[in-house]
Amino acid sequence: MPQRSAIFHFKPDTVDKPIVTQLVRNHNLTVNILQAKISPEEEGTMFVVLQGEGADLKSGLEYLEGLGVTVILPNKNVVLFEERCTHCGACVGQCLPKALSVDPDTRRVQFDSALCIACELCIPACPFGAIESVTEHLARSGQESRK
Ligand code: SF4
Ligand code: SF4
Repeated sequence: MPQRSAIFHFKPDTVDKPIVTQLVRNHNLTVNILQAKISPEEEGTMFVVLQGEGADLKSGLEYLEGLGVTVILPNKNVVLFEERCTHCGACVGQCLPKALSVDPDTRRVQFDSALCIACELCIPACPFGAIESVTEHLARSGQESRK
């Protein structure tokens, strides 16, 4: 059965809606919550893996959009340029699956691409442009190689 990782961003007025129950009950989806940051009356984020048939995934995502929940469906990957990274840690808090983390011994930021779900939330968080999407990087490399 198809599986899809997704990130949901909730506005304060949708954070208390029973969306997981609805996705399971009304859209036949299995919802595996990997991480959630949700507080009453504040914006919230949930990182999930959805499992279900294509039509059910589609109807479930439409239901969320109808509620005003922003859904990010990662489908790319990112690359971290060590030479530009100052290990400031600004990107780490954006990374729900903990692909970016701080080594407790060295205090250096490390990237585990196997955990990356390519949500790209870390890219704008980096003040040094040390993270790029693979597509952006390949496009730029192609332009530079043609110069
Ligand atoms: S794109 Fe960035 S924030 Fe998203 S999972 Fe990958 S490393 Fe983490
Ligand atoms: S925000 Fe950029 S410079 Fe700072 S640790 Fe992350 S990748 Fe490195």
